[in-house]
Amino acid sequence: MIQQPVQHNNPANSAAILVINCGSSSVKFSLINPSSGEALLSGLAECLLSNEAIITIKQAGKKQTYELNAPFDHQIALQVLVTQLKQLDLVKDICAIGHRVVHGGEEYSQPTLITDKVEQAIAQLAKLAPLHNPANLIGIKACQQAFNDLPQVAVFDTAFHQTMPEKAYIYGLPYALYKEHGIRRYGFHGTSHYFVAKQAAKQLHKPLEQCNLISAHLGNGCSVTVIKQGESVDTSMGMTPGEGVMMGTRCGDLDAGIIFHLVDNLGYSIADVDKLVNKESGLLGISGLSNDCRTLENAMIEDNNSQARLALTVFCYRIAKSIASYSTCLTQLDGLIFTGGIGENSSWIRAEIVKQLGLLNFYLDDEKNQTTRFGASGNIANKDSRACLVIATNEEWVIAEQSAQLLTNLAK
Ligand code: AMP
Repeated sequence: MIQQPVQHNNPANSAAILVINCGSSSVKFSLINPSSGEALLSGLAECLLSNEAIITIKQAGKKQTYELNAPFDHQIALQVLVTQLKQLDLVKDICAIGHRVVHGGEEYSQPTLITDKVEQAIAQLAKLAPLHNPANLIGIKACQQAFNDLPQVAVFDTAFHQTMPEKAYIYGLPYALYKEHGIRRYGFHGTSHYFVAKQAAKQLHKPLEQCNLISAHLGNGCSVTVIKQGESVDTSMGMTPGEGVMMGTRCGDLDAGIIFHLVDNLGYSIADVDKLVNKESGLLGISGLSNDCRTLENAMIEDNNSQARLALTVFCYRIAKSIASYSTCLTQLDGLIFTGGIGENSSWIRAEIVKQLGLLNFYLDDEKNQTTRFGASGNIANKDSRACLVIATNEEWVIAEQSAQLLTNLAK
């Protein structure tokens, strides 16, 4: 168990941060140089606790997979990783572990050194993020076992949105539910929105503190954030990641009356509704085919599949509507950012969204939109438009950079 250490490794003296993103049945990891963002090693342990459990590790252009022919857990996955790091002589370069932690509530708006007290707080906050925070804690505990002398830092997905004003985070519910139970908008994908906003500022040749942006993180989970003078002032996800725009399997905003109707008249239990709105809705629910945007685009274009077209059309309309709604937060707007697996790669989705934003003066250059994909970044707007930037997100780099910064400050 890590107690408040007196002396920390100064990241200036050792090179890398091991970034861990622990889900309920997966661990994503990368060893990152915090200054350059270079990944010295990366990988994924997935299908943990099942017979299909598998670990993939990429290093120096080589990819290796490990199957143990038996279900294994997060701890064993991390042991495999440590063995590899030792064999590659990389352990000596690691100065700290940076963890992605999903929910930091109102307490944590900054990267935080993990102590017993912080662990307890992350466990307490599991009531607001029951799927995510317990998994993050498993990763923290497994890393304490595997790397017990290294400091560990929590970087919270909610932290960037702690600058939202009250009018953006208070729900139209009795105020006591906020005061007594913390029911409010927190927002997620904060690390990603922060990273792309910082990159956008560089591309626009302005300090981040002077940038006004709308950022659309479109992946399996989707959220839209409005950034005023470098700070998040509103975001589409809420107390949980279920609110806002439609996503791969989540329905996004929903008339609460539908839930009562499902329970009172259609025989759904609350657990059924939970599964329905989080796992069976969105692109998957409307198309009846897949939550994967590529599959749906292929079905729409090659097979003229009308359900796939409808799912993608609703998806884009709702995102465009969310982007336009944030014009209420700003008096100036420098540009729109697309990021996440869909935002970085799908020119069809970007075109469909932007064609509904003419009133905000966004117009695409078709050729730039077609060619800016697969890791390419750039402005895909035409010359009469505000900037429309495609930026590949890199949450791992932010976690590494912020962990290193915190340790440098603590070592002073
Ligand atoms: P993420 O959660 O950020 O990894 O994004 C996953 C989503 O990105 C899935 O819906 C994928 O279908 C989508 N995606 C990835 N590559 C492409 C592509 N080339 N075209 C369209 N969608 C893509």
